[in-house]
Amino acid sequence: MSDRDTPLDGGDTVDPPRGFVDQANVTNERIHEEFDEGWPECWERAADLLDWSEPWTKVLNDDDAPFYEWFVDGTLNAAYNCVDRHVESGRKSHAAIKWEGKLGETRTYTYQDLYREVNEFAAALRGLGVEEDDVVTLYMPVIPELPIAMLACARIGAPHSVVFAGLSGKALGTRIERADSEYLVTCDGYYRRGNAFNLKNKADDALLKVDHDVRSVVVDRLGETLPHTIDDADRDYHELLDEHAGATVDPVPRSAEDMLFLMYTSGTTGEPKGVEHTTGGYLSQVAWTSHAVLDLEPADMYWCSADIGWITGHSYIVYGPLTLGTTTMLYEGSPDYPERDRVWDIVERNAVDVFYTAPTAIRSFMKWGEEYPESHDLSSLRLLGTVGEPIGPRAWNWYYEHVGNGECPIVDTWWQTETGAMMVTTLPGVDPMKPGAAGPALPGTDLDIVGSDGSSVAEGESGYLSITRPWPAMVRSLYDDEDRFIEEYWTETDDGWRYETGDRARIDADGYVSVLGRVDDVLTVGGVRIEITRVESTIAGVDGVVEAAVVAGANNMLYAYVSTESGRMGDDALRDLINETVERSIGTVATPLRIVFTTELPKTRSGKIMRRLLESVTNGEPLGDTSALRNPESVGELQAAIRDR
Ligand code: ATP
Ligand code: MG
Repeated sequence: MSDRDTPLDGGDTVDPPRGFVDQANVTNERIHEEFDEGWPECWERAADLLDWSEPWTKVLNDDDAPFYEWFVDGTLNAAYNCVDRHVESGRKSHAAIKWEGKLGETRTYTYQDLYREVNEFAAALRGLGVEEDDVVTLYMPVIPELPIAMLACARIGAPHSVVFAGLSGKALGTRIERADSEYLVTCDGYYRRGNAFNLKNKADDALLKVDHDVRSVVVDRLGETLPHTIDDADRDYHELLDEHAGATVDPVPRSAEDMLFLMYTSGTTGEPKGVEHTTGGYLSQVAWTSHAVLDLEPADMYWCSADIGWITGHSYIVYGPLTLGTTTMLYEGSPDYPERDRVWDIVERNAVDVFYTAPTAIRSFMKWGEEYPESHDLSSLRLLGTVGEPIGPRAWNWYYEHVGNGECPIVDTWWQTETGAMMVTTLPGVDPMKPGAAGPALPGTDLDIVGSDGSSVAEGESGYLSITRPWPAMVRSLYDDEDRFIEEYWTETDDGWRYETGDRARIDADGYVSVLGRVDDVLTVGGVRIEITRVESTIAGVDGVVEAAVVAGANNMLYAYVSTESGRMGDDALRDLINETVERSIGTVATPLRIVFTTELPKTRSGKIMRRLLESVTNGEPLGDTSALRNPESVGELQAAIRDR
């Protein structure tokens, strides 16, 4: 293992490629200082990217901290900012959404098309009885009707709550119930690897368990492939559009602090929390980061491969790029169907400029081999991004070389459902990159790494990542649960309030943050504290390994679940090499009791490994709700592997 393969050790810096910097949106070397010096007014630069109906009178109100208010008294409408203003400024025939469907279908919506359909559906929602501040639940795969429904809600001031289509009916029911949502927009079904799946049945199941009445609208995605029942209470989406053909609805001016949407966290670490995001602060920071970090401009073909049901999809498929008037790609399918070059084929055919994905996807691409990206012309790419998990130097370098051809900066963006927008990342036209470290705090934000006593740890030491200044896109509360909001996230200090991210991290002398994992991923074995993520990244750095998840069994011993490159599953030499590497880099105390090789690890919609599930597998316990998994098939394989031993 060469030095540069040592996971998460960063060290080497890579300067932003010259060709990129020459055209970047933000190249001001003093940007970090300028934001610092003029805080919080610096955030007006973000708000100025939007059109407001009434200007704000104060940037930040912290009288009732940690319930902060941003852009006080300002009013605006998010749909107006994402759609109307581009039509009005003469860009109506510019593409807003380019959709690639599962079966190879494509659809393009110009800003004018989007304007028409958003208005018609907004009128339809009103016709069904939706009023300002009513929560509308959306349960759909990545089809254009999903962002259209989001924007239609935003237009009439009804917060949306998008539930990932991969979640079970039970999970949907709980979210509808908790949000007191009386409206649901869903669809008949969707395709997964070429097979039709019924979504309407899951939605019907969900509604059986909801105590109040819910009116639903159903999009006919599958036509004759999957006939579904439209009950008396349901309305067909396209029939509704026909009934409201040509209708327009004035965008409702919303206060900056009014809720734009509600989003339940994915629940990797516990009960899902209903995170509330507002209209003004959220949209400002999302627009600013799309401009300064993703470097988006209207002429770009931009593709974020996340699901819209995840915060990444809200901020960086829908609201960020559309606010800036960019073309945003939607892709319904899987990255390896029908072939493993599917992603690169889409990049080439659409001449994608900016591509944003997750480390889990990059590690799959690595596993499949560089021949797939190399068989396509990827020269249209200008910038690459990643989000969701730490990307170790090995995957970083692979992405940089085989996808970016050494010419595209990589932005490793750290943020959360609760932060609403990116918080830690390099600015690609300004900051050098360090593979393995996400980057410095975004201009206008401030963080600290603290120990369990709440004081800052020494440079290079790991501790709890916390945020020490409020930021515009921050979560405002948890739905109907202000006490839990404070309890989950906030600590009062001598200088105010500190937001606890729940992640472990360390920071280097240049202020670059390496995120190490969740705070609770620490284990005491034989009296020694072991950071599970450190064991994982050490294993993941071994040649032949794609990904590793380490959990503790009921016996307090470590178990490693490891996905390997093809053909290495039965390889005992690889097992030995893993053990040796762990012993050498951490110590025998961290050597796993068992290493289970597998083709795939169980993952959530955002590509995170479900460790809680692996613990149950290890201990032979019942699995509980597996509906949040994107690859439930993977679990049976692991259960079998741990049994036959
Ligand atoms: P829950 O809070 O319910 O457990 P979740 O945290 O998985 O769900 P998200 O809000 O989508 O849901 O994920 C945010 C988390 O993802 C961060 O707290 C961090 O652990 C991880 N993360 C995101 N981006 C990065 C990154 N660039 N580097 C390292 N970790 C990241
Ligand atoms: Mg979280």
